[in-house]
Amino acid sequence: MGKGHRRCEICHINEAWPREEKLLFTSFPLNPDRCREWLKRVGNDELVDLPIEKLHERRNLCSNHFRREDFNKAGNRLNRDAVPSLNLIAPPLTDEQLLPFPQHIYKPSESRGKLYSCTSYFRAVSPALLGSYWS
Ligand SMILES: [Zn+2]
Repeated sequence: MGKGHRRCEICHINEAWPREEKLLFTSFPLNPDRCREWLKRVGNDELVDLPIEKLHERRNLCSNHFRREDFNKAGNRLNRDAVPSLNLIAPPLTDEQLLPFPQHIYKPSESRGKLYSCTSYFRAVSPALLGSYWS
């Protein structure tokens, strides 16, 4: 995957592909409840096994899957509670398929088995990512 170019997990449109209409790409929410709802609607059970921090960092949906009212007035940011509802191509995941979610990133070298919270992970790795979405 090309570095820096986001890709939609539903229609696989790449941010870099030329097109007439400008699409907005939004990463998966860090909030477990909202992220679970996104995963359910995207319908790809391979994503369930990824840590929620990775989903937030690397995986995106394009604006083809959200209604106009899911965005703010300027149309450049998704509302906090928006869930994908348009142009969904896979059947929703079942509760059973969603059972492994949420996974988290571990840092075994420093403290074996200790669960790192999303917040401390992002504070350590990339402060810029904190608060760039959903705020
Ligand atoms: Zn898409």
